[in-house]
Amino acid sequence: MTIIKVQKGTKDILPADMPLWHFMEEKANEIFTKYGAKEIRTPIFEATELFARGVGDTTDIVNKEMYTFEKSERSLTLRPENTAGVVRSFIENGMHRLSAPVKLWYKGPMFRYERPQAGRQRQFHQVGVEVFGIQQATADAEVILMAVNYLKALGLNDLSVEINSLGCPECREVFKTKLKEVIKPYLNELCPDCQSRYEKNPLRLLDCKVPECKEIYAKPEIQTVIQSDFICEDCANHFNELQTYLNELGIKYSINKLLVRGLDYYNRTVFEITSNNLGSQNAVCGGGRYDSLVKNLGGEDTPAIGFAMGMERLAALIENKEDKKTKAFVVSNNMTEALKLTESLRQNGITAEFDLTNKKFVKQLEKASKVAEYALILGEDEISQNKITVKNLATSEQKTIDCKEVISLLN
Ligand code: ATP
Ligand code: MG
Repeated sequence: MTIIKVQKGTKDILPADMPLWHFMEEKANEIFTKYGAKEIRTPIFEATELFARGVGDTTDIVNKEMYTFEKSERSLTLRPENTAGVVRSFIENGMHRLSAPVKLWYKGPMFRYERPQAGRQRQFHQVGVEVFGIQQATADAEVILMAVNYLKALGLNDLSVEINSLGCPECREVFKTKLKEVIKPYLNELCPDCQSRYEKNPLRLLDCKVPECKEIYAKPEIQTVIQSDFICEDCANHFNELQTYLNELGIKYSINKLLVRGLDYYNRTVFEITSNNLGSQNAVCGGGRYDSLVKNLGGEDTPAIGFAMGMERLAALIENKEDKKTKAFVVSNNMTEALKLTESLRQNGITAEFDLTNKKFVKQLEKASKVAEYALILGEDEISQNKITVKNLATSEQKTIDCKEVISLLN
């Protein structure tokens, strides 16, 4: 019979990988909680329209990468990212009534129909943060700090933080017009994607990875427009304020005017964190401000800023963690006593196992030394005297103690 295999672009996260995943998840909880963020879990599928409106229908994500299906004449989509879902939940649950800021964090699987390669899967995981209700650049600084400090807590150091300001819809319009003007003579030479971006979302031209397009955008007259300070005074003040905070906090960053990010809804601050230890898919974190999204999705006008990180890319940078050994392995040929002792250890917070198949004593001891820190030996003598022989499997030291002492000894 043919064996059914895991789907292209998806991966099992096996028990051996779990210590690393638990480490990433526990650190997220620990660090984001310090900043006052609460975890939220939204459904894995949502109405397709949420992503069309929330991510933007000029983006690659919505145009090419969505897993969309019909059920009861409804179009549903597996979430390609979690911001839209979190915003939907924010609105639906009236979270604008909570006192601002509302800080939420999430973790979980996302789905994008992309060409699988190193660092790029079709089902992958993100951990992310969204902060609602604050217009000031203090929120931008705090969100970047949350990202940087989470990555530090994971032990990642060789990282670059890049920031940019996309301005507001008003000042961006002027920039878009100038950009289109200067690129127009080359329109026919651009890749098909860029040709359609040119009309729909010209800012995204700067994001193109096609070498021929990149060469065109590197031309001096185009660079002059890209590098110009197009943002209005208010946006410039906001951006300067953010930089002051980052400087004061000693967060190293650089300004990248080509950083426009893939999603349609960003305004003002956008940022990306890349690792210098990954190959071509080196972005571990992407984020930005999205002050119009809550309103666009039908909520009260609420400014917001957030980020998402790719957990597989983080995992690739962290050394695998050792799996913890079981604390106690009960060695006995009396199955009832073994079962009772093992269970009472577990009830007292001690990880414990015994040999379910009642193998020979020596075999059980062998197994114990592989999987556990202590062997708890329960032979005929021990049972009759209500005692246990405790063997430290690292040092081979052993002693026989009263049954009731074992829990305090191991705890
Ligand atoms: P990229 O330019 O690498 O496609 P993106 O701009 O599409 O990234 P975002 O939507 O900002 O990515 O998602 C945030 C993070 O999620 C990325 O920085 C990356 O670490 C991770 N990520 C995105 N797509 C994938 C994927 N297909 N497989 C694994 N991780 C991914
Ligand atoms: Mg992408």
